[in-house]
Parts: sequence; structure tokens; C-alpha cells
Amino acid sequence: MNPMILKWSLTPENQEDSFEKYCPNCGKKVLFIDSRMRRRNVNGKNIYEYAIYKCPKEHTWNKSTRQSKASDNNINPSEKFEEKTDQPFQTLVISECFEMGVEKVEIYLDHVEGRWRIDKLLAERVADLSRTEIQELIEAGLIMINDKKIKPDELLRPSQKITLKVQFFKYKS
Ligand SMILES: [Zn+2]
Repeated sequence: MNPMILKWSLTPENQEDSFEKYCPNCGKKVLFIDSRMRRRNVNGKNIYEYAIYKCPKEHTWNKSTRQSKASDNNINPSEKFEEKTDQPFQTLVISECFEMGVEKVEIYLDHVEGRWRIDKLLAERVADLSRTEIQELIEAGLIMINDKKIKPDELLRPSQKITLKVQFFKYKS
């Protein structure tokens, strides 16, 4: 057995990576896209976290994602400003699994927030499978939740394990 283990966290934040919104600099409604840059401001005892969105003309909009007390975290309050790049969610490439001799992929859901259908999630995050192919694999029992056969529209819950039996997936030319 040669499993690949992944941990995924599903939040509304990484579900919606674009917003239609009025841009004061453009003077009209435009599509803001998540730049995957995150900004953290520490103001006294409060920590504010923002996702930085950009309009087509690179104007930025900071969407508040979290507010917490400095004491909740071990953050030095003198660290007034910090910018970091969030890793976009891990994309899974089935052809790479074949190359590496991975027999199955196990995805552990450590956080699930919002409504996530398994076929839709995998269509977004598996680079080389279409939603139709994923639905066929689910129907065939080659994609399971907690080792049980499921339906393509199954909704995901925290602490579940998604198993992809890639060794039985058909090679695509
Ligand atoms: Zn703009």
C-alpha cells in the first residue's frame, strides 16, 4: 500500500474566490478576485485579518476574514503589520499519482464550513478529472467517504475521510 495523505480545510472563504462589487477607483461594479495575499493588522489587543482582493485594474479591496484578541494567539503585539501569502488549496493531479505509484489518496477533512458537494469539490481540486468523470468514479465506488459508497451529491461533513482508489482509475490518453 502506498497511500497519499492530504488534509483539506473547507471554508466559505476558499469557496468564493471572487466577488462582484463596486470599485470606487474604477467608478463601477467590477469583479474582485482573491489575490491569495493575506494581511494581518494588530491594533492594540485586536488582530484583524484580511484577504486582499483585486479588481481587473489592480485596485485592492481588503475583505475582513477574522478578528481575534491578541491574547488568544501567541502574537507579539509589537508586530504591527505582517503580510503573508496563503498557499492556495492543494490541487491533486491524478496522472502524478500514477507516476509516483500511489495506490490510493486519502483526504482528511479537518474543517468543513458551508455546503460542499463531493463531486463539485473534487471537480475544482482535482486537476485532471472532469465533474462527469468524478461522478462516474463515485458511482463505481472508486471514490468513497469513510470507506462507504456514496452518491455524487453527498454533502461533506467535518472529520470525514475521502478515499480515491486511484490504482483502479483508468488511464486517460
Ligand atoms: Zn478598480
